[in-house]
Amino acid sequence: MDSTEKLFMELTEVAGVPGYEAEARAVLRKHLEPVAKIEHDKLGSIIGVKAGSADFPRIVLAGHMDEVGFMASMITDDGFIRFVPLGGWWNQVMLGQRIVIKTSKGDVPGLIGAKPPHLMEADEAKKLVEKKDMYIDIGATSGDQVRQSGVRLGDPVIPICPFTVLAPGKTYMAKAWDDRLGCALIVQVFQRLAKADHPNTLYGIGTVQEEVGTRGAKTSVHNINPDVAIILEVDIAGDVPGIKPEESAIKLGKGPSLLLYDAGMIPNLRLRDLVISLAEKAKIPLQFSSMRGGATDGRMIHVHNEGVPTVVLGVPTRHIHCHAGIIHRDDYDHALELLVQLVKHLDKRTVEGLTDR
Ligand SMILES: [Zn+2]
Repeated sequence: MDSTEKLFMELTEVAGVPGYEAEARAVLRKHLEPVAKIEHDKLGSIIGVKAGSADFPRIVLAGHMDEVGFMASMITDDGFIRFVPLGGWWNQVMLGQRIVIKTSKGDVPGLIGAKPPHLMEADEAKKLVEKKDMYIDIGATSGDQVRQSGVRLGDPVIPICPFTVLAPGKTYMAKAWDDRLGCALIVQVFQRLAKADHPNTLYGIGTVQEEVGTRGAKTSVHNINPDVAIILEVDIAGDVPGIKPEESAIKLGKGPSLLLYDAGMIPNLRLRDLVISLAEKAKIPLQFSSMRGGATDGRMIHVHNEGVPTVVLGVPTRHIHCHAGIIHRDDYDHALELLVQLVKHLDKRTVEGLTDR
């Protein structure tokens, strides 16, 4: 396993649902501390700062630390746990999946229970089970047993999927790519620039609570007042059965993607074009996407103060918002290279020229 794979393993295997990002934050801190000055906001976001040769412009790289998961909301007398989703889940991907509950007494494993098909009439088998009717089974036979295992209301519930190198060799399966991949990019951009010069001051933010409404994006940039923001995210790969090219034409292994539109932001067009020209010059493949539903941390950051020129760079990921997703190493490496080039390029003159007057 090389250092990137080790970082992926570390970042994706820790827990960090919205509001409970401590474990993910600790991993980010460990890797950023040697290469950045560490700051925080008061909601839980972590900020790495590295001064280049100029105070201005202030460049923000933002990736969210939280992943989709659940929170225990009720313990039943017969020993089951009801939960609320943290982040967007589709009912059909949840049943039968393994989870772990993080409790004050340690990790409590379990699964989201599902009724065997043997007991279903044809009609029932076709119906979607609703989230409110689902439950977690930790193998208890009474509510008291659940409590004795350490489970308390409000405990976070996290999907289980160890980091796995897949058979073709360059593709990886893990949970929480959304958005530990963005966190990994921040770490490695800072590492790459540790001894390099760049004509700006660089801020790498691991934001909190993106999946429940991009909340850490708002609080974390309050004191920074960025001049440019680059949001690092996963993008929805459409190269699987059931997704039409007009829904997503993004393919694994064909390069990082530039988001041209989402429900929360139109990117700064000059910054967009700069990314495209830098990619062309460096022969880095680039894909383009637009997303009718959903938004990123860019939604908050690009309207901070008077407005912040912002783009979203994505790494294609299959099966986001499921228990596990799949990414391609080449896309990540290309995104990293493009980011390093971009940060080195964003000097005072370039950034002043990004705004229409
Ligand atoms: Zn995300």
